[in-house]
Amino acid sequence: MLNRTQSEKLFAEAQALIPGGVNSPVRAFRAVGGQPLFIERGEGAYLLDVDGNRYIDYVLSWGPLILGHAHPQVAAALADALSKGTSYGAPCPSEVELARLITQLMPNIEMIRFVNSGTEATMSVLRLARAFTGREKIIKFEGNYHGHADMLLVQAGSGVATLGLPDSPGVPVGATVHTLTAPYNDLAAVQRLFEQFPDQIAAVIVEPVSGNMGLVRPLSEFLPGLRDLTTQAGSLLVFDEVMTGFRVHLGGAQALYGVKPDLTALGKVIGGGLPVGAYGGRREIMSLVAPLGPMYQAGTLSGNPLAMAGGISTLRLLSLPGVWEQLEVMGEKLVTGLAERFAAAAMPVQVERVGTMFGFFFSEQPIINWATAKLADTARFAAFHQVMLEHGVYLAPSQFEAGFISTMHGEQEIRATLAAVEKSLGSGRVGN
Ligand SMILES: *Cc1c(COP(=O)(O)O)cnc(C)c1O
Repeated sequence: MLNRTQSEKLFAEAQALIPGGVNSPVRAFRAVGGQPLFIERGEGAYLLDVDGNRYIDYVLSWGPLILGHAHPQVAAALADALSKGTSYGAPCPSEVELARLITQLMPNIEMIRFVNSGTEATMSVLRLARAFTGREKIIKFEGNYHGHADMLLVQAGSGVATLGLPDSPGVPVGATVHTLTAPYNDLAAVQRLFEQFPDQIAAVIVEPVSGNMGLVRPLSEFLPGLRDLTTQAGSLLVFDEVMTGFRVHLGGAQALYGVKPDLTALGKVIGGGLPVGAYGGRREIMSLVAPLGPMYQAGTLSGNPLAMAGGISTLRLLSLPGVWEQLEVMGEKLVTGLAERFAAAAMPVQVERVGTMFGFFFSEQPIINWATAKLADTARFAAFHQVMLEHGVYLAPSQFEAGFISTMHGEQEIRATLAAVEKSLGSGRVGN
């Protein structure tokens, strides 16, 4: 068993001061039992907790750290920026530089506005879509997460597309009356909504690869179909690439699948571990953003030089020749190894990978949407999560989260991870 004395002590203190002891709910480990670990430091592919335990980290701050923890060149860029002041509330050169880097890697983004989180990016991009189309309704998909703005905190009802009801107390019904939901990968449901609400739907927002119900890929016709349906209806297609941007492909899901969204929301990797979000897209639409146009959106710390330095150094290093290819090689080794170990244990598991994101569901059937995802065996996942942690592997504490690798996950880390999987499956604690 792990020594968790210091983590337990800190968690007790934290719970008296911070709701649930955490500043973002999934961190509390409620879905897998046990208690969260308090982290002392991150080093490359590893997390070190306050009790001196070391783990191979597949959470990577929930996606941003594609170069691993405390990458020396990112740290140096941050130190340099820090010495010049952390925020000016006035334009600075690094905003232009990060904007140029992103628009080069994602040419569908002709203009971009930086914000401070993915939540800010999605709520701003939908305000813009509504301003541009003069329409109020939006369509989102069951099991897709777009941050915690009121209008987006909507889960779908049954399998049928329904009007959204708020997912959390405190969200006024009025804030979600214009949020329509459809099952992921279900074009017919989207088509029905367009028929039911002609000329009323401003935008369809989608995670082009879904990473917030576990990793679920789009069926081949899904994204092109959304492109066609939105174009026909005069509504906008918004890709929420907060997670997939620079994670499924160097040009995001839009490059991987060759589908051109009107607008894109970004976050996570573009800050390299600092709080950054962004939204951007067609120049014609972005020209509505204040002060160029009338759609108001602002931010005290938006585009601050420290956060920009995190993004610039991360995207530069990620774009160097061979770096992406190496990530793909390591990602493939990991999921091939996982699938082999589960098969050898005769355990039904659906293993998926898209670029540097991976996932596995304890389920006998392919996962295509939230209805199929939620059939996965969460008790088995919880047991697996606990044993893996004891063997030094830190997985996201929920069946319904994606896993991430970084450039620091090499042969040695993959081997150690697969050895831990073998031990975990052989422990008699994961079933079969
Ligand atoms: C993480 C995430 C968000 C929210 O970003 P925050 O920075 O946590 O506000 C939005 N959309 C997607 C797809 C995400 O994965």
